[in-house]
Amino acid sequence: MLSEVQGQAHAVDALNSALGKHQVHHAWLFHGPDGVGKELAAIGFTQALVCLEKPWVGCGKCAACTRVAKRNHPDVTWVMPEAEQVERGLSGRSDFTNTPSRDIRIEQVRQLQERLSFRALEAPHKVVLFVTAHAMNAPAQNALLKTLEEPPRDTVLVLISSAPDKLLPTIRSRCSKASFGPLPLDFIAGKVKAAAKKGMDDVLARQIAAMAAGSLARALALDPKALEQRKETIEAFEKLRADDAGGWIALAEVMGEDRGSAEAAIDVLQIWFRDVALAQVGAPGLVNSDLAELATQAVTRVSPARLQRRAGLLEEAKNAITQRNGSTRLQLERMFVEMFTA
Ligand SMILES: [Zn+2]
Repeated sequence: MLSEVQGQAHAVDALNSALGKHQVHHAWLFHGPDGVGKELAAIGFTQALVCLEKPWVGCGKCAACTRVAKRNHPDVTWVMPEAEQVERGLSGRSDFTNTPSRDIRIEQVRQLQERLSFRALEAPHKVVLFVTAHAMNAPAQNALLKTLEEPPRDTVLVLISSAPDKLLPTIRSRCSKASFGPLPLDFIAGKVKAAAKKGMDDVLARQIAAMAAGSLARALALDPKALEQRKETIEAFEKLRADDAGGWIALAEVMGEDRGSAEAAIDVLQIWFRDVALAQVGAPGLVNSDLAELATQAVTRVSPARLQRRAGLLEEAKNAITQRNGSTRLQLERMFVEMFTA
């Protein structure tokens, strides 16, 4: 149900307003970052369009609503790349003769068009949900244009996309838009905490939320274990001094034990630098709230310009490590050398 979508009042209001007028445009583009509730909203919107108990609202409980949620309503078609079907466990690799495609192909659009030429079986609307709509390749998009220009009766198409720029302008212009934004940090932190089996302290939950940059899905996929060393990493970093090369080399060795630990340490330091930047301007809302005093001390040791430069060096090291460009430990050493000497 749309009422289950949290933190996206702007998009949900737009959808409810269209539903409330009983006049729903035939094509919609749900756009915004991954993992912020676009698909959940698409399910709620679809339920409102097919529910017979509470038409234009959706009850979430009737047979029609339940089948939408389980993705087996006969009047609702899901379109996604074959690779996505495999990743979601909806198809097996062996269901496809070739390697499952990462594109939504023209054949899929043609099949859909054939299906849409028939009347709805049960519901007042036929609904089509394009998952990762931007995965439609150029021929598929061109084929879909025809459907958008001459929409079949009582049909609503929802294009869900985190990269709407990859859709043809002619497709985008024919869609009503529902814009989804990054979710608030506190909201994600609360969800992360609720999802933790053994409980989690607030600082760690906020750390994870900050790393997820507004995506609940990304936050829930992060492993809290990788961040157990958060406090130690930050404290060790703040002990480093420009005249003590041995200190940097030792820390690079600890942080660079393997790629996973190096990436986690860099993530921790990225959020820490943001905290120090907040402390520099006296702003509240530090993620590492347990280290507020250390952040205040750090402010006296690093200028805003230097802090920004260090953040850039962190980003560079992170990219190099992720792309496996050479030894992790050496990347970190080089990063520290540049942070403390340049
Ligand atoms: Zn219902």
